[in-house]
Amino acid sequence: MQLLVATTRSTNSFYKTLLSPPLTTALLSSPHNNNKSTITISSCISRRRRSRPSIFLSSESHCLNLEITTNINNNNNNNNNNEKKMSPFLDQYIVATLFASLFGFIFLFVLRRNNNNKKLKKDAEDNNKIQSNIVQSSISTGDSSPEIASGVDVIVVGAGVAGAALAHTLGKEGRRVHVIERDLTEPDRIVGELLQPGGYLKLVELGLEDCVEGIDAQRVLGYALFKDGKNTRLSYPLEKFHSDVAGRSFHNGRFIQRMRDKAATLPNVCLEQGTVTSLLEENGTIKGVQYKTKDGRELRTYAPLTIVCDGCFSNLRRSLCKPKVEVPSSFVGLVLENCQLPFANHGHVILADPSPILFYPISSTEVRCLVDVPGQKLPSVASGEMANHLKTIVAPQVPPEIRDSFIAAVDKGNIRTMPNRSMPADPQPTPGALLMGDAFNMRHPLTGACLSKYLESFYTLRKPVASTINTLAGALYKVFSSSPDQARKEMRQACFDYLSLGGVFSNGPVSLLSGLNPRPLSLVLHFFAVAIYGVGRLLLPFPSPKRMWVGARLISSASGIIFPIIKAEGVRQMFFPATVPAIYRAPPVD
Ligand SMILES: Cc1cc2nc3c(=O)[nH]c(=O)nc-3n(C[C@H](O)[C@H](O)[C@H](O)COP(=O)(O)OP(=O)(O)OC[C@H]3O[C@@H](n4cnc5c(N)ncnc54)[C@H](O)[C@@H]3O)c2cc1C
Repeated sequence: MQLLVATTRSTNSFYKTLLSPPLTTALLSSPHNNNKSTITISSCISRRRRSRPSIFLSSESHCLNLEITTNINNNNNNNNNNEKKMSPFLDQYIVATLFASLFGFIFLFVLRRNNNNKKLKKDAEDNNKIQSNIVQSSISTGDSSPEIASGVDVIVVGAGVAGAALAHTLGKEGRRVHVIERDLTEPDRIVGELLQPGGYLKLVELGLEDCVEGIDAQRVLGYALFKDGKNTRLSYPLEKFHSDVAGRSFHNGRFIQRMRDKAATLPNVCLEQGTVTSLLEENGTIKGVQYKTKDGRELRTYAPLTIVCDGCFSNLRRSLCKPKVEVPSSFVGLVLENCQLPFANHGHVILADPSPILFYPISSTEVRCLVDVPGQKLPSVASGEMANHLKTIVAPQVPPEIRDSFIAAVDKGNIRTMPNRSMPADPQPTPGALLMGDAFNMRHPLTGACLSKYLESFYTLRKPVASTINTLAGALYKVFSSSPDQARKEMRQACFDYLSLGGVFSNGPVSLLSGLNPRPLSLVLHFFAVAIYGVGRLLLPFPSPKRMWVGARLISSASGIIFPIIKAEGVRQMFFPATVPAIYRAPPVD
């Protein structure tokens, strides 16, 4: 008798089949005329590493043959079918079957354990290989060809929000990643401190939500808008989401450090401190990077793909895009200590003159203040000009509840500045390399949606989410900045009043702002609804020729704000992303 059990799923199902009642019954009821009965169990267990990308997929097939031969001495040579005589005979088969099953079970258990141990050992060896390959390929200078790969699949330059999250995501997928970061100590910056709810949702999807835990991050539930002594509260439309979903504000450095740590815990991610000095190009394809290590050595490393995430001051982007960087303004950063914001757990936007002022908590005891100062020339911090500007021009526009804390922060003297750069995405597709994050595309950080955008960008199709956020940021900054032009003044007031209406009039724009609604059409509709609302305010109750003229200019001015931004973002990319050809060119065929 020969029995074949084959399974390609798992050893568990194999055990189930082996021990299943039909099999036992089959054995018991089988006619057996030979005194030698053979049970052959053949199991082909195809073992695949779960969720690994195709380049890593290594299918190992273990064919397991288990043969149990049982010699059964049949004392009855007459082949007599006497039931009484068959009874001990059957008993022997039952014992043999049980014995065979037990033996098979133990054998498979041992085999499986050995395989697991082997796999663990192999993984550990692979990881060691990655680390040593990185070092080896780095030490080799110039003559390393891409074939002598460094053992990594992706080089990531920079471990800011984009690079760290990307490294973690790729590493989790099984890619071998080499991250080179200029400075691995905790960053101390005034950027990237407010994560919109849309960004938090992306963190959850990427399995990084614990990066906002244990860093004294504050929940952010919406915005409060202030203009000419009036205010309005705009809550995020979070009703449909889990109670945990909200914005988060924190010290940027603490958040980034958590993301770096998280990426570094993955065995196939290597985080190294070093400054990338150039991209290594061969026949138009980026093959790797040259970098300087912490101890000053010049090294090279190679990988099939290099992703450049070196931030807003990127030195490497020039060969990968046509950067047209504008600096419309700078943010001047202060930290207010132990002060209560008028609306707890809300970002505060003051529509000040000449441009907005922001306040939001970054810990349980600190509030970040960012004062927008238009133009490229800033009052000097060193000479005290800046402190004077803040006290005389800005402080009177700060809500009275927090004015004293604001002045105390200015007096304390820890005034920091950061240019607000804007750069539309304009990539030059280059085989072997990609740009991401601020290195690729920047917009005014007024909406604080950049972190969300980068978490989104490698998770799903970049457009139109990024375009919506970019357009909104650019348009809002212009609408919220004061202007001597009467039409622009009307637009600013119309925007404040429109948002104060509540309901769909605030929910729509706020869901765009929070990264919860990526639809560009919704943005355009709300933007022109604000303009029409502004015209309505002018014409009612009695339209005069002057008011009609201002209304016409308001529409023209609104168009003048939004259409150039949409044009820069790309109309097709924004509204018809599916019609845009893939930006990644296939590497040239040799
Ligand atoms: C004043 C200001 C406030 C902002 N506030 C917010 C906010 O509240 N919310 C929000 O969502 N966004 C905000 N933004 C935008 C946001 O901070 C950035 O978009 C985001 O930090 C960009 O992330 P990144 O990873 O691309 O770059 P970065 O965070 O700048 O990271 C780049 C990394 O690359 C490293 N690096 C640079 N050069 C090299 C090199 N040659 N070799 C190796 N490593 C290198 C750097 O050390 C750095 O760690 C703000 C921006 C500004 C200017």
